[in-house]
Amino acid sequence: MVVLEVRTTKRCQLLEITDMVTGAIEESGVKNGIAVIYAPHTTAGIVINENADPSVEQDISMKLSKVVDERDPDYRHTEGNSDSHIKASIVGPSQSIIIQNGRPLLGTWQGIFLAEFDGPRPRKVFVKVIEG
Ligand code: ZN
Repeated sequence: MVVLEVRTTKRCQLLEITDMVTGAIEESGVKNGIAVIYAPHTTAGIVINENADPSVEQDISMKLSKVVDERDPDYRHTEGNSDSHIKASIVGPSQSIIIQNGRPLLGTWQGIFLAEFDGPRPRKVFVKVIEG
C-alpha cells in the first residue's frame, strides 16, 4: 500500500490527486486490477469528477456548503465542525477504480480528488492496488 501525503489550503476544497494516484499505481507494477483510494479521515473524502473545468470542483464545494449549514443551533457535536463530518459522510471516504495497462481507467474529463471539508491541514490518502 502507498500512503500519499498532501496539504490542503482552504477549509473546503477539492484537491486533485490524479497524478499522485497514477504514480502509486505505476510504482506497484500492476498492469491490470483495482485500486482502492481511501481517505482515513472523518472530515475529508474522495471524489471522482470533472477535472477539465476547475469551476466544477469549486461548484461542488460551494453547493455542499450551501446544502449543509456550517452553523446550526441543533448541532450537538461540540468541536464545531458538524458540517464537515456531514459533507464527508455524503461524499464517502473512498473510491475504487479499474486499472488497465498500468493506468487508472478514467473517462476523458474525470480526475480524482481529495475532498477537504475542514482544512487547511495535512491529509493522508491510502492507495491499495490489487492485481486481477
Ligand atoms: Zn468534529
